[in-house]
Amino acid sequence: MSFSVILPLGTPFREGQEKDLKAALKGTDPSIPLVFVSGNHDLGNTPTPSTVEQYCREWGDDYFSFWVGGVLCLVLNSQLFFDASACPELREAQEAWLEAQLSRASSSSSTEPKPKHILIFQHIPLYLKSPDEEDDYFNLQRTVRQNLLDRFKKAGVKAVFSGHYHRNAGGCHGGLDMVVSSAIGCQLGEDTHGVRVVVVTADSVIHRYYSLEQLRARGLDEDLKKLLQA
Ligand SMILES: [Zn+2]
Repeated sequence: MSFSVILPLGTPFREGQEKDLKAALKGTDPSIPLVFVSGNHDLGNTPTPSTVEQYCREWGDDYFSFWVGGVLCLVLNSQLFFDASACPELREAQEAWLEAQLSRASSSSSTEPKPKHILIFQHIPLYLKSPDEEDDYFNLQRTVRQNLLDRFKKAGVKAVFSGHYHRNAGGCHGGLDMVVSSAIGCQLGEDTHGVRVVVVTADSVIHRYYSLEQLRARGLDEDLKKLLQA
């Protein structure tokens, strides 16, 4: 389960909101691990060493990897892709780390098993509809986007999960699924408050957006339930 923590930077409310959010998250069933993905409201549209440090102190690393059932998940700080003008050394550090992760994942070694899938989580989508669309506030700049797309595809990344757009969007191009999910809170389009359920099997990654209403009334669709039981 992943969240982007949406807290306005530099406001007198931030401290209180962080406290409230942490208190609310305590209500989550402890068997569900929580993973946080940082975004522009956490670090600023132009992050600085100090905003990144503040985030890491409260919520943990801004980029990291974890494994679940043979699946390698990489959580990235996409603000460093968007505008690292105030912290170029942090972008360099993430770049070096990402490169090492991707090359290790795509080269098989006797000490480390090859991941069944590689999934990426980053706040800002690579693109909203098409890999060659124009630059926009809600996507990554084309040169940065193309560079990441090429490296992700080469490493065999299956899907990239993002938010930021507050609408459902994305597309599958060249075997890489770009999944943009709307929000549980503020909607900017026609979608309803909801969450995306992702079911990962040995062969595939299946995802479906559910409104909170739908989940409450009917729960997951039968086909997804069956996959989870298999
Ligand atoms: Zn955002």
